Amino acid sequence: MSNLKLCQGPSCHQYCTQDRLKGTKGSKTFQTRRRSNLNYGNGNFCSLNCQNDWFNDFGNKAINHFGRLEEPKHLTETNAWYKDYDYNWRDENNQQSNWRAVNKITKERRPLTEEQYNDNNYTLNER
Ligand SMILES: [Zn+2]
Repeated sequence: MSNLKLCQGPSCHQYCTQDRLKGTKGSKTFQTRRRSNLNYGNGNFCSLNCQNDWFNDFGNKAINHFGRLEEPKHLTETNAWYKDYDYNWRDENNQQSNWRAVNKITKERRPLTEEQYNDNNYTLNER
């Protein structure tokens, strides 16, 4: 019919705003919002309220279905590298690199080239 998407909030139609009131006189109803773009929950919800309503109704089931975390995850030294740079950096002599890898655990810093910094596949983290 159209490219409009329905908000998946189970109670969306119960939030009685004017934009949800549709139909002709005598047969008006409050309806679930329908939009070309929904801005919450990966494009599934019209508002944070509707996203929270969904999670309150279905969150436990969803987590159990897709696998509840039973043990803490560990970020290790070998996988704790992230890329960083200084926003206001300026090097007229062009002798130093502004781009670096920093380890979140050891705080070690290793210089990167701009190419390495911009390469989304380049990482010091073990795979
Ligand atoms: Zn909604």
